[in-house]
Amino acid sequence: MQNLASDSRVVRVLERRASRVRARRDEAVNESASPIGRLSDIWGDRTPHGPDEPWPTRVDQNVMDGVSADDITWTRSACVLCSNGCGLDVGVSDGRIVGVRGHADDRVNHGRLGPKGLFGWQANQSPDRLTTPLVRRDGELRQATWDEAMELVVDRSRQVLEQHGPLAMGFYNSGQLFVEDYYTLAVMVRGGIGTPHLDGNTRLCTATSDAALKETFGSDGDPGALEDFDLCDTIFAVGHNMPETHSVMWTRVLDRLRGPQPPRIVVIDPRPTRIAAEAEVHLAVLPGTNVAVLNGIQRELIRCGAVDRQFVANHTIGFDELAARTADYDPEYVGEICGVPAEDIRRAARVIAESQRLVSTCLQGVYQSHQATAAACQVNNINLLRGMIGRPGCTVLQLNGQPTAQNTRETGADGDLTAMRNWQNPQHVASLAAVWNVEPSKIPAWGPSTHVMQMIRYAETGSIRFLWIIGTNPAVSLPELGRIRSILSQERLFVVVSDAFPNETTAYADVVFPVAMWGEKEGTFTNHDRTVHLSEKAVDPPGQARPDREIFADYAARLGLTDRDGEPLVPWTSAEQCFEAFKRATEGQTCDYTGMSYDRLRKGPVQWPCNVEHPDGTPRLYTDLWFHTTPDICEDYGHDLLTGAALDRKDFSALRADGRAILKSVPYKPAHEPPSDEYPLVFTSGRTVYQFHTRTKTGRTPELDAAAPEAWLEISPIDAEPRGIHEGDLVRVESRRGELQLRARLSGIRQGVVFAPFHYGYWDERDDGVANGSPTRAANELTITDWDPVSKQPVLKVAAVRVTLMPSEERCSTAPTATASAPVEEMSLR
Ligand code: SF4
Repeated sequence: MQNLASDSRVVRVLERRASRVRARRDEAVNESASPIGRLSDIWGDRTPHGPDEPWPTRVDQNVMDGVSADDITWTRSACVLCSNGCGLDVGVSDGRIVGVRGHADDRVNHGRLGPKGLFGWQANQSPDRLTTPLVRRDGELRQATWDEAMELVVDRSRQVLEQHGPLAMGFYNSGQLFVEDYYTLAVMVRGGIGTPHLDGNTRLCTATSDAALKETFGSDGDPGALEDFDLCDTIFAVGHNMPETHSVMWTRVLDRLRGPQPPRIVVIDPRPTRIAAEAEVHLAVLPGTNVAVLNGIQRELIRCGAVDRQFVANHTIGFDELAARTADYDPEYVGEICGVPAEDIRRAARVIAESQRLVSTCLQGVYQSHQATAAACQVNNINLLRGMIGRPGCTVLQLNGQPTAQNTRETGADGDLTAMRNWQNPQHVASLAAVWNVEPSKIPAWGPSTHVMQMIRYAETGSIRFLWIIGTNPAVSLPELGRIRSILSQERLFVVVSDAFPNETTAYADVVFPVAMWGEKEGTFTNHDRTVHLSEKAVDPPGQARPDREIFADYAARLGLTDRDGEPLVPWTSAEQCFEAFKRATEGQTCDYTGMSYDRLRKGPVQWPCNVEHPDGTPRLYTDLWFHTTPDICEDYGHDLLTGAALDRKDFSALRADGRAILKSVPYKPAHEPPSDEYPLVFTSGRTVYQFHTRTKTGRTPELDAAAPEAWLEISPIDAEPRGIHEGDLVRVESRRGELQLRARLSGIRQGVVFAPFHYGYWDERDDGVANGSPTRAANELTITDWDPVSKQPVLKVAAVRVTLMPSEERCSTAPTATASAPVEEMSLR
């Protein structure tokens, strides 16, 4: 606990910083060019339409002032600041990016871009881009040549492999690379080095989406398409702040809401998000209670006869168990657990029961919460109970957060085996080994791949000695940051970081590789409805920065990784050659890319599977109601949702799903850290529309950063009043693991819950020496080391905290006002 003297020093520092950011925000907002207006008018003008009409086009554009349209050449790409993957062109003049414009003919966005898409490209030109390799000498990171840096990394790898073997090598990557980067990494690590310690930061974002799709349908891959929003009559959004996390998706929904026959909406979220404001029923449940409320809704659907009995009998298994397991979850019991009125649960179920075309969506309010996979599967169940899957306007969308998260999974750069193979199926492993021309035993498929929380534990205990961190920032994004910092700073751990910017994690690196970003390299990526875009190279990367794919290929060659004929394991020298190699790995698999080519993608995006049978791609999976649940095809044999116990082939075969979807049921269990007298509030975290992840890009985009320059704490007036807290007061938020010092925003968040955005770390406050050397800005200072038993996704949304008022000379707040973070008085004016 800090004393008052240090408190007031912290206050002064925070106040200086707040005044500086207010000035920056005013500067940005005073510019009158119309794209600037999109910072407050986040979703732009309405183009209403009904369910039988196509979504009208609206092309959004943002080009630097003073650049003439005649001087711009446009290069095809898509936005990489969320998983919607909106199609856009990158404008280039004089060898630098000068703007973007939406693609009118792209089915994902019909020309629209959100604030991040419109402004985020400026990060490429940030003056602090990493432009040369860095090597730590005498405690300092100093410039080095590529040869020096790469040889150091290769030497240390050889040493570790020789002394400790492949299990001492760990690789932790991203959801923001391209297919070609991920695939090269997966081949190098799984086919060459032979370690199972390879994961992506998609573990923090989409691991549960992946797991839930496999548990219910037998394989990854969202069944529906974004066009289903144009056709549905009901939207069920669970833990999904769509207006901020996927702003163009919400633009699409808003256009339906303002047109004829708008869809009805049911929302589960503890915060008053913009979609909640439009909902017929908003269930503001306590974080960690999703399974209880979803069991309650299923019970009501069964009780009121809303189950499509024929569909369930013909195309699912597990109904009797589900009905028995949910029978006790009557609305009164559920209401008590979740802290919502029983009648609202009945109303929510009624809206879903009356739907004819239902789209259900999930995001981090499910995936980063307690009983994550269990809850995501219950959402799948609801669409199945209603028989609403595999046809237009009817789908569940287990969404992604990051732009290329889907590719981490498809290429096998996370815990999956390349191209949605089942690591427990020897035939799948053998077929991959044949593609890579390595011995099947070389591929580490003797057990599940190591998830990042376990890799961190291995580093903590010393069995991992080499950790290569690629395009991710675990010193801000992993839970319980005090522990993460102490692990990354261990002397015995050799840390390599590939990134475009210096950040909180590069501070712990022994070697830093500068990388090329989006727009500076060629490659492909896939959004959450399986749409593949080609992103062309528009400009050269700065200095000596290189694409990740090239860095991995260089490393693999220097390390002497070969196939079983002694030929280079990574033979490709261009992105396109790598894409062709990846296509071969997908042949006949669920995510079949074999019908695509760079030339085909230059004409527009394509949804996989795309092959001889489906040369133009596949809008919807499971239209024949045959699911991937046979032992030979399924990507995973499944788990017990409560314990995470893995089923083997024998267990799975005994289910006799045989192409039917699996209705998995589970009892609700309370979260592991409930509120107490000492820590009486539930802390939860999330995103704002203006920032992305740990702000390495959006924090370097002046307009976006000015729109949300500083972290804040949302608290309900009911919880604020007895603590003497007013809007803009400085407050201390403490959990058993750390503390934050933030300005309070009195918002419409439910009573008993407080919220802070997770984007903010420390890279841009070092000049101020904020908080006297104590890290008090990153939400994950508070979070607990805990993960879902099935998806292994960390529980970042439920921690017990206390909040106290700190002494402060002034009240100020720079929290956004046009979003879920709006102050209570503005909310009532909406
Ligand atoms: S919705 Fe996502 S992909 Fe589309 S412009 Fe916004 S950040 Fe980019």
